[in-house]
Amino acid sequence: MGRAFKIVILGGGVAAGYAALEFVKHGISYGELCIISEEAVAPYERPALSKGCLLPEDAATLPAFHTCVGIGVERQTPKWYKEHGIELALGTHIKAVDVKLKTLLSAAGETITYKTLIIATGARVLRLEEFGVSGADAKNICYLRDWNDCKKLVEVTEQCQGGMAVVIGGGYIGMECAAALVTNRMKVTMVFPEQHCMARLFTSEIAAFYEDYYKKRGVKFIKGTVMTAFESDAEKKVRAVILKDKKRIEADMVVVGVGIRPNVSLFEGQLALEKGGIKVNGKMQTSNPSVYAVGDVVAFPVKLYGDVRRLEHVDHARKSAAQAVNAIISPEEVQDYDYLPFFYSRAFTSSWQFYGDNVGKCVLFGSLKDQKFGAFWIDRGHVVGAFLEGGNKDEYASLATLARLQPPVKDIEMLAKQGLAFPFFHKETMDQASPLLSSVKSTSQQFLLEPSSSYLIQVCAGISVAVGVSAFAFWYGKKRRRW
Ligand SMILES: Cc1cc2nc3c(=O)[nH]c(=O)nc-3n(C[C@H](O)[C@H](O)[C@H](O)COP(=O)(O)OP(=O)(O)OC[C@H]3O[C@@H](n4cnc5c(N)ncnc54)[C@H](O)[C@@H]3O)c2cc1C
Repeated sequence: MGRAFKIVILGGGVAAGYAALEFVKHGISYGELCIISEEAVAPYERPALSKGCLLPEDAATLPAFHTCVGIGVERQTPKWYKEHGIELALGTHIKAVDVKLKTLLSAAGETITYKTLIIATGARVLRLEEFGVSGADAKNICYLRDWNDCKKLVEVTEQCQGGMAVVIGGGYIGMECAAALVTNRMKVTMVFPEQHCMARLFTSEIAAFYEDYYKKRGVKFIKGTVMTAFESDAEKKVRAVILKDKKRIEADMVVVGVGIRPNVSLFEGQLALEKGGIKVNGKMQTSNPSVYAVGDVVAFPVKLYGDVRRLEHVDHARKSAAQAVNAIISPEEVQDYDYLPFFYSRAFTSSWQFYGDNVGKCVLFGSLKDQKFGAFWIDRGHVVGAFLEGGNKDEYASLATLARLQPPVKDIEMLAKQGLAFPFFHKETMDQASPLLSSVKSTSQQFLLEPSSSYLIQVCAGISVAVGVSAFAFWYGKKRRRW
């Protein structure tokens, strides 16, 4: 017994939800498309798991954050899929794929066939068992990748109210979970091997700001070391975390965020792989022309940098999904994927965005003290990356444009002084980057060529109103959940 579809999306996460929306926009016939997911729930905005869902009060819960609510459009509940004639095969784990025969085999033994396959299998968390840590299967050790993990994390936190939590890992999952645990009145210690948090993105100066910010809220940091064992009780609950130097940290619960691995195993030996992901071209097409891949699982050409990368960003999941759908529907019309890396995070009242590439020399601007600061990365004389804490929509848009245009920088000290005002003081310099201008949308051009008076007022008044902005951001973040 089996089912046959024109198009199958394997994986039911962010990319799958956005791909479904794109198909619907183009008009898809009833019964043509099937989404297969081992999760029991329809695609949702995964970043909500570490943000709205962990709030102590008025926490977000499904169905509130099904895709594509993150871009302000209709929530795609199971009813939405039904109404659009899209088959949603939930709770369905695919255990084998044959790309030559165009078949998928489910764990329950069903064979599903397709004409075109979109791989959207995302990534899985690295578990401590994989590192041979004994006691890693204790009941109060939590991870955070999917809705089930999130429900467990909330439950375990509730069970040890006011207790001690150890967070293993200093990346964005660790940082966002630590903040959420503090908000839930837990006493939090973070342990990670790097010299500072968010080591893949932050410089030591940027990291120092966030570590200080967290310390003021009670978080302790133990850096430059790893945990080696757990001490558990008779109920199979962790009671302490043991570090490499034998130091013992008491724990009522543990949250682990030590990285992810793309889910490629079904395709090993069948499709070309690169950088740990499934290799695709600018149309998100794999080495098999009937198979496309999107989101966290793909290694794709980044036009801007002339190399191949795998990015674990929700924005890329959304955009690559739309790209694949357009390439499937109108292969002749679609241009190659031209993605500007973008990443964001929010914790406590802090909120930052990053655009571009964090290579070369990093120059800070603004005021760390006032929580309104940013950074530019300059590589071979050009701005290639931009980071901003506490920005507004226009400011973030200007940084995105900068990172895309990569204007030359003559005076780095001046750049640091000008900060957010850099594009307007350097109109001529920006114009020199004109070959790149054609690739920028007209709205961004307008913004660069003609600074609006409201923007200039913001630049001048920005620092003095930083406190007010922070308070507003906190209120706004609570009122209007953005994922
Ligand atoms: C807690 C959390 C917070 C995040 N916050 C941010 C943020 O602030 N900013 C940001 O840019 N990014 C953030 N991300 C990253 C972002 O969510 C991912 O980049 C995005 O979800 C990737 O989308 P995807 O569709 O490729 O993969 P996923 O959303 O992971 O979806 C993959 C789906 O495939 C399913 N699947 C896999 N294998 C199989 C199989 N064999 N059979 C059936 N189904 C299968 C999985 O169960 C899952 O449903 C966050 C991620 C997490 C976990």
